[in-house]
Amino acid sequence: MPLAATAIAGRQLIPRPLLAVGIAFSLLPDLDGIAFLFQIPWDSPLSHRGLTHSFAFALICAALATLFAQRLKADRLRVFAFLAICMASHGILDAFTHRGGGVALLWPLDHSKFAFGFRPILTVPIQPKRLFSAEGVAVLQSELLWVWLPLTALVVLGRCLRAVLPWHWSALEAVLLAPPSQQRQALIAIKKPSKLNNPRKRSRGNKSMLP
Ligand SMILES: [Zn+2]
Repeated sequence: MPLAATAIAGRQLIPRPLLAVGIAFSLLPDLDGIAFLFQIPWDSPLSHRGLTHSFAFALICAALATLFAQRLKADRLRVFAFLAICMASHGILDAFTHRGGGVALLWPLDHSKFAFGFRPILTVPIQPKRLFSAEGVAVLQSELLWVWLPLTALVVLGRCLRAVLPWHWSALEAVLLAPPSQQRQALIAIKKPSKLNNPRKRSRGNKSMLP
């Protein structure tokens, strides 16, 4: 998810340090795998796919990360939104996996673990022996088909929209990159290209004047 979002939005909106932390945040929820070592009961919020996979945890971690916004080379709102999406997307994708008994997405409001009705993604086996076997290959194939392929389609769609609507994208970028007090001015400063200023139309017009 962080790589796809950066491929669509570009490095200006999501600088390298923010992308690096976004990748770390998208993996962070699985640190709760340590729960298996301590044999924590499955219905506990501290179990695997418990509170660390919830939307609330993603929001709290993203909010804490805004304290380091300057180091991440982005404003606080961008840091919060990007990192919250990166981390929350992990729990959502886990809820599409075919095994595992669901994810506590709504903790602390609801301690139950949710799973979607449609669960095509195969669960990654914990034992390394199973990972490097035919099962591991099947997991990789299902992730390519149900995670990487849709994300690639999303990136292509996003890039096409940027190419088709360049002015709208520039306006959005200018507003997001400007300090809050200057966002209005930044938006006004972007002039919508008129037909007269369109170089393609101008060159066509010049051609018609040739003998
Ligand atoms: Zn997980």
